[in-house]
Order: sequence, then structure tokens, then C-alpha cells
Amino acid sequence: MIVMKFGGTSVEDAIAVDRIAGIVRSRLAEHPLVVVSAMSKVTDGLLAMAAAAGKGDGDKAVDLCHQVRERHYATAGELLHTGLFTEVHGKLQTEFESLEHLLRGISAVGELTPRTADYVVSFGERLSSIIVTAAFAGREIPATLLDARKVIITDRQHGRAVPQVEEINHALQLHAQPLIAAGRVPVMGGFIGSTRDGITTTIGRGGSDFSAALAGAGLHAERIEIWTDVDGMKTTDPRICPDAHRIKVISFDEAAELAYFGAKVLHPATVLPAVEQNIPVLVLNSRNPSNEGTRIVARTPKSKSLFKAIAAKQRITIIEIVAARMLMAHGFLAAVFEIFDRHRCAIDIVSTSEVSISVTVDSNEAIPAIAADLEKLAYVKFSGRQAIICLVGESIRERPGVAAQVFDAVKDINVRMISQGASEINMSFVVEETDVPAAIKRLHARFFSEVDPEVFD
Ligand code: ASP
Ligand code: MG
Repeated sequence: MIVMKFGGTSVEDAIAVDRIAGIVRSRLAEHPLVVVSAMSKVTDGLLAMAAAAGKGDGDKAVDLCHQVRERHYATAGELLHTGLFTEVHGKLQTEFESLEHLLRGISAVGELTPRTADYVVSFGERLSSIIVTAAFAGREIPATLLDARKVIITDRQHGRAVPQVEEINHALQLHAQPLIAAGRVPVMGGFIGSTRDGITTTIGRGGSDFSAALAGAGLHAERIEIWTDVDGMKTTDPRICPDAHRIKVISFDEAAELAYFGAKVLHPATVLPAVEQNIPVLVLNSRNPSNEGTRIVARTPKSKSLFKAIAAKQRITIIEIVAARMLMAHGFLAAVFEIFDRHRCAIDIVSTSEVSISVTVDSNEAIPAIAADLEKLAYVKFSGRQAIICLVGESIRERPGVAAQVFDAVKDINVRMISQGASEINMSFVVEETDVPAAIKRLHARFFSEVDPEVFD
């Protein structure tokens, strides 16, 4: 069997749903289980409704709810013939009535608990999965709606509930496996789950990929397909380098490094359950289904190219902490890091010398307060508008001369800090934000002019 997950833009309207029906139909012989996100922007809309209701503004919440309702009705109307539409309309109506009722209730109390917020937000995937199941059924796909809350069992940390893998695997055998064995195509909403005692939870924003990975791992899928609206991952931002290549195959570790730098395609941590079992994960484009996309695997084959991709993370601040006291002293780093910890500020890159420490952080509002605390220990200097450039590739492990090649390519650009990740598969350095396009263009020209056709397109 395979798992096919369709993100919000792949179910955003009738045209999109019709398109994915064609994609699923082309794979019926492989026994797919389908996971769908809410229609694009619906999760944000539901959160906005919940927030408005929580502030006591029931009218605004219900207004927003009606907009979302009309969009679902219109999509269902365009997708389904009259008989099926009447049936689905009835189902959707029941859901929207209960949502509206709930919003009125929240607004009457004027308080939104995490548990209630999860319940509100769960409507997104519940509604999209109802429509997609019916649309599939009307397009020669033997689809059956599978309530994700019966299989994705989680703990009770609302908003970021932790899936309970053993129970999920058991529930999958109980509720999904028999459907697949009977030749049905289960359609399940991503992102949502429930506690053992049936309270609705969600597993974190973007969580549908995670749901797909859990289902694929539990059902020993041959592969997991994550359908988005881009042709997989690229060697760098194509807005900077129009000649960026598609990465055909990337290791989980490489993809994880890139995700951290904002390669938005998917967060690899969410597909770890599948990768751990050596189930390949493919990132594909529902608007261009013949493109092979990117394959994320546990280990990539040896490649002739040094790097897989170049990414940049903007809006970085460098904080330099200079203290003569640090000379031969211990405990100074601990004292410095304790301050960052107290302000819940994550540090990206650190470099130290005998009398100074430089760290980079995402530019944030806590910086003045952090500075005030640091100044009790040392002399502090800031530079905003910096960026981290990161080059990622398994092939740089134990390869001499890599740093020389990288810095030769950007020799006319001022490099502020340098770091080679402990994972030994990334090299990062800090430049002024304004130097990012030039740095990326030069590095891309140096490392990706000639590429290994096995790995890049
Ligand atoms: N609908 C959820 C979100 O927008 C989950 C997902 O799409 O993966 O975060
Ligand atoms: Mg997503």
C-alpha cells in the first residue's frame, strides 16, 4: 500500500480536488490511503474565529464561519452531481451548525481553552475530508471516510499533542487495514487526533505530513507521497537563481538541515516515523503530477556533487560579547547562555575567542532586554540585518579543501562568522542581508554549474 497526502493548496477548490482525484485514480492498483489537509487558509480562518469568540465577539466569529461555510458549499456544489451533493450538503450543514453553536458558546463564556481551540480547528480537516471522499466516490474511486480521531491517538497536550505510536498502529490495523484489504481507499483528515478517551486534539501546525508519516509507518507503506504545489525541493531559492535545479534525492539529515533554514516544502521531523523505517517519502506537485519531485530517503547514494543545496536565513542579529574576564575563566559561557535561556531566545551559531563570544539569534523583541542583562557581565555589541548562508551536503564529510572552495567563491563578500555544523554536513556563515543574493549566486555558480544527473535535474 502507499500513503498519499494532499496539502491545503491541493484541495483548495473544486479544480484542485478534481485534479487529485485523477492522481489517486492513477494509483489505485497500489492501494492508497489518502490523507488531506484542510482547504488552504481554512485552519487560519478557524483560529481567527476561535480567537474572536474567545474575546466575546460572537458576531465576528460567526461571520467568519459563514465565509468558510460558503466556500465549502460552493466547492462541494461544483464537484458533485445533484444526488451526492444533497447528501454531502446535509453532512456539511450539520457540521457548520455545530461549529456555529460552539462559537456562540465560547463567545458567551468569553474564554477559549486550548481544548476548545483544538475542537474548533479540527473542523478544517473534518470538512475537507467529507468533500474529498464524496468527490472521489463520484469519480470511480471506492473511497471511504475514515475519522482520523479513531486512529491518531495522542496525549492531551492540546495544540501540540504527541501521537502515541503503539496505539496508533493498533488502531490502524483495526480501522484502516480492513478497508484497504477490501479494496477501499480510506480518506482521512490530517493534523487531528484524539486522546484515548475521545477528546479531539491537534498535533501541531503543518501536522498533516506527520499524520501521513504515522499512517505510512504503521501500515508499512511502500512509500509516502506528499503532494504540494511545487516540484519538490530545489538547490536554492529559484527567485535568486532561476537556474536552480530540482533535487531528485536527498537524505533525511540534509532535508532536516534545510528545513531549519526555511525551505518550506515540508518539515522533515514530521516524516521521521517513515524515514526510520526506510519508507521513502516523495515530495510531489499536484499541479504537475508527471514531475518526479524530490525523494527523501534515510541515506542518499554517493554523489559527485559536494553540496545538495544552499539556503539562507534572513533577519539575523549578531551579538558580540566581549569580556576580558573571560580570559582563563570557567563558567562565563554558562552565565551568558543562561541569560539567553531565561529570555527563551534560541541561538543559532556560536563562535568564541579567548576574550569574546559571538552568537547569532533571530532578530526579535527580546534583544534589548537580553542586552541589558548581558551588559552586567561584559561589553556587548549588536549587528542587525544579517543573514546565515548555509550549504548542505553529505558529501562534504571528511572531504579536504571544502572550506577553501566555499570562501574562494565569496572572497569579495564580507564574512562575519563561520561555523561548520557538528553534523558535518553543513557549512554556515554570516553575511550582511544585502549580500545574500550575490553570495548565493556565486556559490550556486561554483557548486551547481555542472551537476550529477543522478541527483539533480
Ligand atoms: N491544516 C493544518 C495547518 O494548516 C495542518 C496541515 O495543513 O498540515 O496547519
Ligand atoms: Mg503543509
